[in-house]
Amino acid sequence: MEIKVVKTNAPKAMPQSDSLEFGVNFTDHMFMMDYTEGLGWHDATILPYGPIELMPSAMVLHYAQEVFEGLKAYRTPDGQVQLFRPLENFRRLNRSNKRMCIPQIDEDFLLEALKELVKLDAQWIPEGPGTSLYIRPFIFATDPYIGVRVSKQYKFMIIMSPVASYYKGGMAPCRIFVENEYARTVRGGTGEAKCGGNYAGGLAAQQKVKELGYDQILWLDGESRTYIEEVGTSNVFFLIDDEFVTPSLEGTILSGITRKSVIELLKHWGKKVVERRITIDELYQAYQDGKIKEAFATGTAAVISPIGSLGWKDAEMTFNDGKIGQYAQKIYDTLYGVQVGEEKDELNWIEKI
Ligand SMILES: *Cc1c(COP(=O)(O)O)cnc(C)c1O
Repeated sequence: MEIKVVKTNAPKAMPQSDSLEFGVNFTDHMFMMDYTEGLGWHDATILPYGPIELMPSAMVLHYAQEVFEGLKAYRTPDGQVQLFRPLENFRRLNRSNKRMCIPQIDEDFLLEALKELVKLDAQWIPEGPGTSLYIRPFIFATDPYIGVRVSKQYKFMIIMSPVASYYKGGMAPCRIFVENEYARTVRGGTGEAKCGGNYAGGLAAQQKVKELGYDQILWLDGESRTYIEEVGTSNVFFLIDDEFVTPSLEGTILSGITRKSVIELLKHWGKKVVERRITIDELYQAYQDGKIKEAFATGTAAVISPIGSLGWKDAEMTFNDGKIGQYAQKIYDTLYGVQVGEEKDELNWIEKI
């Protein structure tokens, strides 16, 4: 498919790298493509970033048929631009599409479109430690119809936002609350799809933990409230004795690309990693026995978030004296180093632009 390019005639000024707040500023251009039943995906266009037209009856506004992705572009010390495992994102997008009854999209074409967009707005990739260009591909149902059924029309878009380092004052451990009231998802639900609805459903819990003075939620499974699933919108790892444990994907957990990369990296280093179900009771017992060496969360935004403590019922479990663990730091340094081209890409994760 041809990509039509309409360049802006009013380029914006790039904000200073140190004043970049997450998700506030957007680059000069965006990518857009439509789907119509019978026609397939068509009219692939790169155009100036700006408002779009949508009927008030557009199905996404009523029944939330929507999916999204999140990845980043980085600038290397020698000025090159690169992406981290972008095809993994487009494969996951298609898995989310399947769950939400949205038509599949050619993954290689999406990569080509993304590269062209990033190339055009490359001057928006900030320079400086920890900075990157956050990329948000998303799809939503545009059918102007308010009956409940699968939409026959969609829009796919990519917008991009320059972001400063996630950790302004350096990497810092966070305080996590084990959620005991709300559930994120259940088996058979939409937990393994990256869809906006999952986030809307999690806001009440997020608001609650903030009021309680915590940074994030640890979600337990929605049925028995015993199995550990995720931390906020990131995956979670525990170092128990000399073994890294992360919850296995059972249909309720989002299959993070950072999670996958951390597993591959640890195995590459010869470490023991197991994906299995782990209960909060088992974790508490291991904590009391002094076996938990480290805990951290993984996701594209922060890469690694060390978990300083976990509030569960009346107990407060503190890991590694509330300090950044040795492995959390080492994994962060390696992953981020590979992403920005400062470390060797031994596992072939980088896609140059
Ligand atoms: C996006 C996301 C993650 C992290 O996935 P990455 O690919 O590592 O960024 C984890 N959990 C949820 C619920 C997510 O939406």
